[in-house]
Amino acid sequence: MATSKVLIVDDEESVAVTMAAILEMDGYAVTTALRGEDAIARLRSDTFDLVLTDLRLENFDGMDVLAEARRRSPDTIGIVLTGYASVESAVKALREGAYDYLLKPCDVEELRLTVARGMERRRVGLLLKERLRELEEANQTIHELNTTLQQRIDRATGDLQERVRELDAARREAQDHLEKLRELDKLKSQFLSIASHELKTPITAMSGFVQIAVRRIRRRLDAGRPREEEWRKEENTLLDQLEVVQRQTTKLARLVDELLDVSRIESGRLELRLTDVDVPELAAEVMRRHEVMSTKHELRLRHDPAGRFIVRADRDHIEQVLNNLIGNAMKYSPDGGPIEVTVASSADHEVLLSVSDHGMGIRESELPRIFGLFYRSPDRDARDVGGMGLGLYITKEIVDRHSGRIWAESKVGSGTTFHVALPTSVGAPVQVGS
Ligand code: ADP
Repeated sequence: MATSKVLIVDDEESVAVTMAAILEMDGYAVTTALRGEDAIARLRSDTFDLVLTDLRLENFDGMDVLAEARRRSPDTIGIVLTGYASVESAVKALREGAYDYLLKPCDVEELRLTVARGMERRRVGLLLKERLRELEEANQTIHELNTTLQQRIDRATGDLQERVRELDAARREAQDHLEKLRELDKLKSQFLSIASHELKTPITAMSGFVQIAVRRIRRRLDAGRPREEEWRKEENTLLDQLEVVQRQTTKLARLVDELLDVSRIESGRLELRLTDVDVPELAAEVMRRHEVMSTKHELRLRHDPAGRFIVRADRDHIEQVLNNLIGNAMKYSPDGGPIEVTVASSADHEVLLSVSDHGMGIRESELPRIFGLFYRSPDRDARDVGGMGLGLYITKEIVDRHSGRIWAESKVGSGTTFHVALPTSVGAPVQVGS
């Protein structure tokens, strides 16, 4: 261990020398200064562990020596020497940072003890300082570790949040899929029950009438040629039955066509062969075909006879739209009444087609759903009328494919109007004449 260094400052040479001798014997490296200026010079060229100074030097304040010592090395221990008469100034020195004081003339043992205590105090102080520095270092390391840890936690939290978001999106997607699958499953069940019922009804009727006809003909063959009047009656009955079979065959063919259309729509195979279609002319043609099927309904076509309402469209498909809307108007007004088909033009380069009936109507809550696949009204009256819930779905798909719009207005018990807006290919429909 390095020898501890002591600076003794006293203008009484005998005191300085004696104290130096005592302390040197205790193993300290002692330097003496007899004047304040000397002491300051020493302090500027060397550092000391402990400075022992007389408070009252010639022309100099001992406290200035201690202040200089601490400025040079803050851990330097200061001890002041003072006479009995200036105990008060010793106390003041202690307040200003001196470690201890010795009264002159001082006892050898007291000197040795005080210096030793001062040295111990300095050692402990330095040790404390060292521990404090270590603690600060450790604190700094902890702070850095904490920062790194926080950054890693932040990154991990961010990653985790991202994963949670991804998982949430995947979960929502899966839920949507599930929802769609459930919907499809429901549609499938609906389809099976509706299709089997709707297809079975005409087949049962056809098979029944064909069986009866076969039996009649066989019986007639066994009985031999009838009389003229009897033969005519039998032929008429047979004709009636064959007509029923014919009607049912047409119905069956229509149902199968609808199913094929749905299949084409679902697989994106609905083809459009575009030509210029005269809407009132096509409507009149479709209405003529429907007119002969009912005696209860009166079909009226309204349009400006001077106007030309031409759309660039697939004729067969527009015919299908008219067939479905006029067919429904008749089907859902079983008590008959007028059915009006109106063709007009709009300012938005569209041809507007509407089909109105005075039938059972549709509840407002159902209106948004009637264009859905397999949608059939739960109402008793509507249920009693046959159907697979495909007509309006196909109609809407056709209108959509022509970039048109379709919507319905209805009042239960009063009737329904379906509106179709079809864009014309070349600007607004051309109006000829006034
Ligand atoms: P459907 O084969 O059942 O007639 P649609 O798709 O043509 O199938 O019609 C769907 C449902 O919309 C029908 O079941 C019926 O409840 C209702 N609907 C369609 N047209 C009319 C109408 N003109 N009047 C009253 N209800 C209608």
